[in-house]
Amino acid sequence: MVIIKSAAEIEEMKKANQIVAMVLQDLEEFIKPGLTTAAIDQRAEALIRGEGAVPSFKGYGHPPFPASVCISINEAVVHGIPSEKIVIKDGDIVSVDCGAYIDGWHGDAARTFIIGEVDDKVRELVEVTEQAFWEGFQQAVPGNRLGDISAAIQKKAESHGFGVVRELTGHGIGRDMHEEPNVLNYGRAGRGLRLQPGMVLAVEPMITLGSKKVRLLDDNWTIVTADGKQASHYENTFAITEDGPIILTALP
Ligand code: MG
Ligand code: MG
Repeated sequence: MVIIKSAAEIEEMKKANQIVAMVLQDLEEFIKPGLTTAAIDQRAEALIRGEGAVPSFKGYGHPPFPASVCISINEAVVHGIPSEKIVIKDGDIVSVDCGAYIDGWHGDAARTFIIGEVDDKVRELVEVTEQAFWEGFQQAVPGNRLGDISAAIQKKAESHGFGVVRELTGHGIGRDMHEEPNVLNYGRAGRGLRLQPGMVLAVEPMITLGSKKVRLLDDNWTIVTADGKQASHYENTFAITEDGPIILTALP
């Protein structure tokens, strides 16, 4: 069941989402070659808790996710576990996925940061992944269908020759981090659930440089590309209103 939020509830959801936006903005400056992903996670957790919020991801799932943010480098698509053994280096692309919970609501967003110099095609991958999100976002208007969002994302990614990961999706979000509906990053325009005001969605294209095939590492969390080529991830939480979609994971 899709849980429709009132205008007042959407307003309440801004706090958790703004904390997520603040953390990601901070990390964009903070992440440098030589840092471990554990150190990035510690900073994210301190920032989240400093706002009186709780990291949504910590303890989530089976096995329980052991950290506050997911950090997924290069061929890692999503759900990378921060580690003292993983060190950021020049030429990496680093995806950070952050969730925060406060006042009974979750916020969720992800960014992929380019560290130093990367190949032009890798930079294009990161840029197109974000652009694909915005293409989908533009379709998130009342009266359109879920497939309009999905198809717009897929079209953008594939027009650049990139792969669209099938196994993972965006989602509804609210009092639970993952609510209905699933928001696929591929699909057909004009199909699926009718969009209506009060839906709050976390849309998150996961786009690959090569094959769209992925596999799960032995840690039971990290998703990597099957061919070892880079992947990018970009996510925002937004609410659909009568006047169109509004981003919640933005700074106030
Ligand atoms: Mg996320
Ligand atoms: Mg999400």
